Amino acid sequence: MKTEEERINELRAVAIAATPASARGIVASAYERKSRARAIKAFCLTCVGFKRADVENCTAVCCPLFVWRPRFVGSGAPEGDEMIEEVSPYLDGDSSAPAGV
Ligand code: SF4
Repeated sequence: MKTEEERINELRAVAIAATPASARGIVASAYERKSRARAIKAFCLTCVGFKRADVENCTAVCCPLFVWRPRFVGSGAPEGDEMIEEVSPYLDGDSSAPAGV
C-alpha cells in the first residue's frame, strides 16, 4: 500500500508531465519548495495556460497574486505608480473591462 507521500508524489509527477517543457522546471521546483517566488510563477503560468505574455498582461486586479505576478521580461512585479497606472483603466466602471477584473 502506498503512503500519502507516495500518492502525492505520483500526482505531482503526472502534473509535471502534463506541463509544457518550457514551464516544467518552474512547476517542479515549486513542488520542491525551492522558493515562494517560483511557486507564484508556477501558479500564474498554470492559471493562463503557460503563456508567459498572458501573465504579464493579466488584468485580474482582484486576484491576490496580481501585484506579485512575475514579469518574464523587465524588472519584477509592478509596484506603486506603475501598478496604479496599470490597473486604473479597470477601476472606472468601464463595462468593456476584461473578464477577471
Ligand atoms: S495574477 Fe493573473 S495570472 Fe496570476 S494567478 Fe492571478 S489571475 Fe492568474
